[in-house]
Amino acid sequence: MKPKNALVVFLLLVLASLSSATAQNGKLVPRYESSERFNVLFRYFSNADFLKDLLDPINAAINLPVDVPVVMGQCDEANAFYSPEDQMLIVCYELVQEFYDLTQQDSPETALDRTREALGFVVYHELGHALIDLLELPIVGREEDVADQFAVMVLATWDTEHLHMILEGADMFERSARVAPADEMAFWDEHSLHEQRYANFLCWAYGSNPQEYRIYLELAILSERRKSRCVNEYNQLVHGWITLLNPYLKPEPSP
Ligand SMILES: [Zn+2]
Repeated sequence: MKPKNALVVFLLLVLASLSSATAQNGKLVPRYESSERFNVLFRYFSNADFLKDLLDPINAAINLPVDVPVVMGQCDEANAFYSPEDQMLIVCYELVQEFYDLTQQDSPETALDRTREALGFVVYHELGHALIDLLELPIVGREEDVADQFAVMVLATWDTEHLHMILEGADMFERSARVAPADEMAFWDEHSLHEQRYANFLCWAYGSNPQEYRIYLELAILSERRKSRCVNEYNQLVHGWITLLNPYLKPEPSP
């Protein structure tokens, strides 16, 4: 091959690789599946387009390799999960119902708001799993804890309203822990125990803004030593996630 032709081929290869990199314009796509059994939930969440507010900032900030459906639907179990096989995130109406029933018992008038807030946390936790899989992010800790940290990072730095989602998520785990006492819980489970997650969330929420969120330290049962580390822990988890996401972040829109 003549040097000039070799140069043209090289340039074409570079352009092809650039266009495949910029073709990574997949996004999170909200979807609400109708359900006879959960028709009230289907109508409420689809009419409000509940997922849009949660997914828009991620779509604006992160390049994804493919479109990823985020589906609210009936699954026959109270769960929310990311499926790596289908590259899809699912929030089951059964879980929504369970959250609603748990909060309804002691605060019926705010049950729906609290359910929405706790679900916001769950969606971001599952998005953490989705990003680890889709972007093949290298992690060196338990994926469940890393997914929790993603949720905390986004929600704590967003605004006070979204910070509430962490606290409702924490509260929901604490309620579940009361239903299933610690001695019946599986320490080998891939998730940390509910009480541990509750303590972590409050510690990190405080650590995100120690001046504003001192109240959260008082809600958590933490040793003085742990309390003194919350700011560092929060800064460390943000540093870790931003470093991992950096190659996939979209340029900030000019003002
Ligand atoms: Zn998880």
